[in-house]
Amino acid sequence: MRKAECLFCKIAGHDIPSDIVFEDDALIAFKDIHPKAPVHLLIIPKDHVMASVADMADDQQLLLGSLLHRAKILAEEQGIADMGYRLVFNVRKHGGQEVDHVHLHLLGGQPLGHMV
Ligand code: AMP
Ligand code: ZN
Repeated sequence: MRKAECLFCKIAGHDIPSDIVFEDDALIAFKDIHPKAPVHLLIIPKDHVMASVADMADDQQLLLGSLLHRAKILAEEQGIADMGYRLVFNVRKHGGQEVDHVHLHLLGGQPLGHMV
């Protein structure tokens, strides 16, 4: 269930290198190559299960929940949980999504300001 032309499928398959901070059978988390904050991780399902949150099927709620759960644990491991952090899903064109393999951004390590 990998897509040959998908960048994040290639990262999940170790076909292109990334700075991996967590991996299990279902998920992988790695450092964003253009970090917007001192801590900027991307958490993704290894399989190309959906392009974006907008494409989520009814039976994929737990899968997306597992990304949030992993983000919570990684924030603790990265030492940013006490001061706080931001979790972002960019969705499709107006959301600024560039990679069509669902992913959760974990940002922290400095005050991030208010976007909304
Ligand atoms: P989005 O705009 O939500 O689709 O986010 C895609 C993210 O992937 C951006 O923040 C990019 O900096 C990041 N990115 C692109 N290529 C790579 C790569 N090879 N390794 C790690 N992060 C990447
Ligand atoms: Zn993919």
